Amino acid sequence: MKLKGWKELPIGGVVTEPGNSREVETGTWRIARPIVNPEKCTDCLICWVFCPDDSIPSNGKIRFETELYHCKGCGICAVECPYKAIEMVQEADVILEELKLIDKK
Ligand code: SF4
Ligand code: SF4
Repeated sequence: MKLKGWKELPIGGVVTEPGNSREVETGTWRIARPIVNPEKCTDCLICWVFCPDDSIPSNGKIRFETELYHCKGCGICAVECPYKAIEMVQEADVILEELKLIDKK
């Protein structure tokens, strides 16, 4: 399924029918990215409960990596994590670091 960018959205709304928010790549709106420290994360899944975009996959026991196609970077997960395991990092800084890694290959 091809996800829609914000320029392809209808004026006035994203969710026009039940469940169609999955078709919209809301991750392109993100200016900050949640980075999880695996040493602090206890898989309590509090972040999974609070994420408004259903962007934290889980099997009910383990928190998997954040799903970045839909994570809008709201930071709610970082605020609600009782173990302070999530840090919100500027998206531009993350992308620059990723580009540096690609250059070294
Ligand atoms: S709330 Fe924090 S400790 Fe709990 S699963 Fe999420 S990142 Fe891990
Ligand atoms: S930043 Fe917001 S949208 Fe992204 S995983 Fe955290 S709570 Fe969900």
